[in-house]
Amino acid sequence: MAQPLVLVTGATGFIAKHTIAELLRRGYPVRGSVRRLDRGDDVRRAVTRAGADPSGLSIVAADLLSDEGWDAALQGCRYVLHTASPFPVTQPDNADDVVKPARDGTLRVLAAAAKAGVKRVVLTSSTVAVMYAARPEGHIFSEDDWSDLDRGSITPYIRSKTLAERSAWDFVKSTPGAPELSVINPAFVQGPALDADLSTSHEVLRFMAQGLYPASPKITFPVCDVRDVAIAHAEAMTSPKAAGERFIIAGGETRLYDIGQRLAAACPDLKSKVPKVELPDFAVRVLAIFDKRLRTIKPELGRHRVCTNRKAREVLGLTLRGPDEAITAAARSLRDMGLV
Ligand code: NDP
Repeated sequence: MAQPLVLVTGATGFIAKHTIAELLRRGYPVRGSVRRLDRGDDVRRAVTRAGADPSGLSIVAADLLSDEGWDAALQGCRYVLHTASPFPVTQPDNADDVVKPARDGTLRVLAAAAKAGVKRVVLTSSTVAVMYAARPEGHIFSEDDWSDLDRGSITPYIRSKTLAERSAWDFVKSTPGAPELSVINPAFVQGPALDADLSTSHEVLRFMAQGLYPASPKITFPVCDVRDVAIAHAEAMTSPKAAGERFIIAGGETRLYDIGQRLAAACPDLKSKVPKVELPDFAVRVLAIFDKRLRTIKPELGRHRVCTNRKAREVLGLTLRGPDEAITAAARSLRDMGLV
C-alpha cells in the first residue's frame, strides 16, 4: 500500500533536510513548506546529497507569521513534522521576534492540522525547553522536567521553544478533534551539514575555524547527531507508544572546548585557530558586558547539566551516536564543502 503524505515545515532547515531524506528513504511522499518557493531546488539538492531520491518531494510556501498557505499545505496530509522555528546565532533584543513565529506558528500549524484531519503532529522542541530550571546538584533531567521561564537568565530562544511546546500541549488537550502530538527535544545538534546554508549549530564550528574564539567559556552541554534526530522524528510519527509523549534526543555531553579539539583533529590545519584555553567564569561574565554572543551562554556558566536519553532508546528504539561521531561528522562535512 502507498505510504501516506507527510508535511515537513521549514524544509530549508538543517534538521528538516535530514528528516525529509529519512522519510523519502522510508518511501513516504513528502511535502516541504518553505518561506520562499525559489528555495525548493536547494532542498532537493540537499536531500539528494543525503542519499534520498527527491522525486517524492513537493514544495509549498507558508510563513509561520501568516495564516496564508497553511490550509493548502496540510491538504491530504496524514502526518506533520513541525520543525520550522527561528534558531538565531545571536539573541534578538525583542523576545517577540522569536517567540511569535515559534509559538504562534506552532498554533497555526496545529489549527490547520486539526482542520485537515491530520492524525499526528511531531513537534521539534528542544532540550532548552527541559533543562533550564533550578534542580539539586546531580539531578538528571528527563522528559518530566520543564524550563522555568520566571528565571532571569532565560534567553529569548529558550523562551520561544518552551512557550511553543507548552502551547502545543495545551492546544491538543483543549481542542476537540486535535491531532495526536509527539514532541522531539533534541540537544545541541551536530552531524553532517548537507549544504552551505548553515544552521546556528554549524556556525559555532565555523566561528571556531575562523579563530573568533581564542578561548572558550567553561561550559558543558548535551549533543546529538542530526541523523538520529531525523530517525527520531520518523519513529515518533508512527509509533503507537509515542502519541502524547516527549523524547529527549542526546548522545552524550561535551565541553565547548572539546568541540574545538575535535574540529582540529578532523582538520589539523585549524589547530592554531580553535580555542586554546578555557576561561574562568568571572572573566566570561565581564566580557559578556561587551559581547552579545557571550551573553547567550551566561546561563550555562558553572553548570554541568546532564539529561537521560532512556526514553528515546526504549520507546523509539534509537541507538544514539555520541558527541565524538556527531562533531567529527559535522567538521568533515564543512571541510568537504570548503566552508572551514
Ligand atoms: P535552521 O535554522 O537550519 O532551520 C530553521 C528553519 O525554520 C528554516 O527552515 C527556517 O526557514 C524556518 N523558519 C524560521 N522562521 C520562519 C518563519 N517565520 N516562517 C517559516 N519558517 C521559518 O535550524 P535547525 O534545523 O537547526 O532547527 C530546526 C528546529 O530544531 C528548530 O525548531 C530549532 O529550534 C530546533 N532545535 C535545533 C537544535 C540545533 O542544535 N540545531 C537543537 C534543538 C532544537 P528559512 O530557511 O526561510 O530561514
